[in-house]
Amino acid sequence: MSALWKVIRHVDELRHYYIGVALCSILMAVTALASPFLLQGATDHVVRRLQGQPAPMSVVIWFAVAILVAELANALLSNIGGYLGDVMSMRMRAILSSRYYAKLLRLPQRYFDNNLSGAIIARLTRSITELSSFMQMLSNNFLPMIITLVAALAVTAFYYWPLAVLLIAVFPIYTWLTALTSERWQRYEKQKNEHVDLAGGMFAEVVAQMRVVKSFVAQRRELDRFDAEYDQTVALTRPQSRWWHRMDTLRRTALALIFFLINVVILWQTMTGRFSLGTMVLLVQLVGMAKGPVTGMSFLVDSTQRALAGSRDYFAVLDEADEPGASLQAVTPTSTLPPPVPGAPAVEFRDVSFGYDDEPNVLEEITFSVAPGERIALVGESGGGKSTIVNLLMGLFPPRQGTIHLFGEPHIEHGLDVLRREVGVVFQDASLFSGTIEDNIRYGAPWASDEQVRAVAKRANAAEFIERFPDGYETVIGERGLKLSGGQKQRIAVARAMLKDAPVLVLDEATSALDTRSERLVQQGLEALMVDRTSIIIAHRLSTIASVERIITIQQGRIDEIGTPAELAASGGIYAQLLALQESGSKQDRKRLQSYDILR
Ligand code: ADP
Ligand code: MG
Repeated sequence: MSALWKVIRHVDELRHYYIGVALCSILMAVTALASPFLLQGATDHVVRRLQGQPAPMSVVIWFAVAILVAELANALLSNIGGYLGDVMSMRMRAILSSRYYAKLLRLPQRYFDNNLSGAIIARLTRSITELSSFMQMLSNNFLPMIITLVAALAVTAFYYWPLAVLLIAVFPIYTWLTALTSERWQRYEKQKNEHVDLAGGMFAEVVAQMRVVKSFVAQRRELDRFDAEYDQTVALTRPQSRWWHRMDTLRRTALALIFFLINVVILWQTMTGRFSLGTMVLLVQLVGMAKGPVTGMSFLVDSTQRALAGSRDYFAVLDEADEPGASLQAVTPTSTLPPPVPGAPAVEFRDVSFGYDDEPNVLEEITFSVAPGERIALVGESGGGKSTIVNLLMGLFPPRQGTIHLFGEPHIEHGLDVLRREVGVVFQDASLFSGTIEDNIRYGAPWASDEQVRAVAKRANAAEFIERFPDGYETVIGERGLKLSGGQKQRIAVARAMLKDAPVLVLDEATSALDTRSERLVQQGLEALMVDRTSIIIAHRLSTIASVERIITIQQGRIDEIGTPAELAASGGIYAQLLALQESGSKQDRKRLQSYDILR
C-alpha cells in the first residue's frame, strides 16, 4: 500500500483533485445513507397508520420526495466526483509518463544497451496505464464505496452492536483469504508481464527494421517468437486464474455464511420486538450497502495489486541512478562553452582503461593528446576499441581508470551537457528523425536561421539534392529517414554536425556505409566540416587516413604507435603493413585489410 501512497505523494500537484474527490466521496456517502433513514421513517409512519394511529397520508409523499432529492443529489455528486476523477487520472498519467521519459533521458547509455527498447516502452505503458486507471477507479468507485461502507457500519453499530461486529468480521476474513490468494497470483502476474514486455520489445524492433526482416524472409520466425511469448502468458493465466477463482469461491462461501447469520439476527430481533419494522428496513438496507463493497472487494484487491505491481515497476525505473551530472537543460543560442586553458591540448586521454559492464577491459592504459586544430586518425582492428574511445570521449561511459581532458580541464568537470556540446560526432549511421529536412539539420541548434541552414547544407554538399525535392528543405522524411539514400542521409547528418559547430569533431567510419560515388560527395562535405577543427577520424579508407597529421594505432586495446603517416609508413608497424597489403592484390590480403575496417 505504501507504494500507492508513494505515487500519490509523487504527484503532489494534484492535491486539489485529491481533496475534491475525497469531499465528493464523503458527501456521496451522506446522501447514500439518507435513503435508508428516510425509508425507516416512512415505514414506521405507514405502520402507525395501519395500527390506526394518526398519521397523515401526505407525510409519506414527503418522505418519497426526500428520498428522490437524496438520490438526485447522490447522482449529481457522483458525476462531479467522476469528472474530477477522470481529469485527475489523466493528469496523473501525463505527469507519470513525462517523469518516466525525463528519467529515461537522464539514464546512462548502459541502461539502453542492456534493455530491449520495446520492453522499455511496454513497461512505461503498462505500469502507467494500470496506475492511472486504478486511480480513476479509486476516485470514481472505490473511495465513495469505502466511505459509505464505514458510515453504514457505524450506523449499524449504533442500533445493535453485535450486528456491526458480524459485519466487520467479514473484512478481516475476506482480506486474509485475499492475501493468501494474492501472493501466488502476483508471482504469476510478474512472469506474465515479463513475457508481454519481451513480445512488445520484439514487435517494436521488427517494425523498426522491417526491411531487414523481409530481406531475410524472417517474418514467420519473428511471428513464431512473438506468439511463443504470448502462448506463455496464456499458459500462465490458466493456473493463475484457477487459483484465483478457487480461492474466490472459498471467500464467497465464507461471506454467504456470515450474511446468513446477519439475516437471522435481524429477523430474530425484529420478531422479539427489539427492532421496529422501520428499523428492520433500515438495517436490511445498510447490510445491503455493506455487502456490495465486500463482493466488489475482490475487484478492488485485483486492481490494487495490478497498480502495486505497476508502481513497483515504475519506481524501479525512477530509482535507477542517473548519469552522473545529468541535466535536462535546454541548449540555447547563448549557452557558451568554457574557455580553453591556453596551450592545453584539445583532447587528452591520460592512462585510460575501460571495459563494458563486468567484461574485461577493452582499452588498456590509453594515453594520447590531440592539439587544437590537429587531425588525427585512429587505426586498429575491428572490435579493437576505436568506437569505445569515442563513447568515452562523449561521456557515455565513465572510464574505469585514468582521466580524459578537454581543452585542459578534466572532462567530467565540464558536465555532460557541455562536453557533449564540445564534441560533434558523425557516425556510420546517419540516424535522422522523422520530420522535415530542416528540422533534422537544426537538431542541435533549433534557433538557426534559414540562411544558416542553407549555408551548411551547401557546404555539406546536400543543398543540391534537397533543392531538387518539390518541398525543398520542408520535405518530410519518413521515420528514420527512409525516403533518402544512405549518402543523402549522411550529408544531412554532416550539415547537422556543421550547425552544431562543436570544437572537437569525431568521424566514426562516417562514410563506410556508402557506395563510392556517395562516399566522394560525403567526403567533400566532411572536409568542409573538418576545416579549422580538432578532428579524430576513424576511417575505412587508407587514403583518408594518409591525409591526417598523426596516426594512432591500437592493438589489443593498447596504443601501439603514434606518429605522422610518413613515420608510421616507415616503422614496419600496423600502418606500414596495411599500406603494404593495399599494394598487394591477393584475396587474403584484402581480407586482412577488411579486418581493420579498411577498404582500399
Ligand atoms: P571498433 O570500433 O574498434 O570496431 P568497438 O569499440 O566498437 O570496436 O568495440 C570494442 C569491444 O567492445 C568489442 O569487443 C565489442 O564487442 C565491445 N563493445 C562495444 N560496444 C559495447 C557495448 N555497448 N556493450 C558491451 N560491449 C561492447
Ligand atoms: Mg567502431
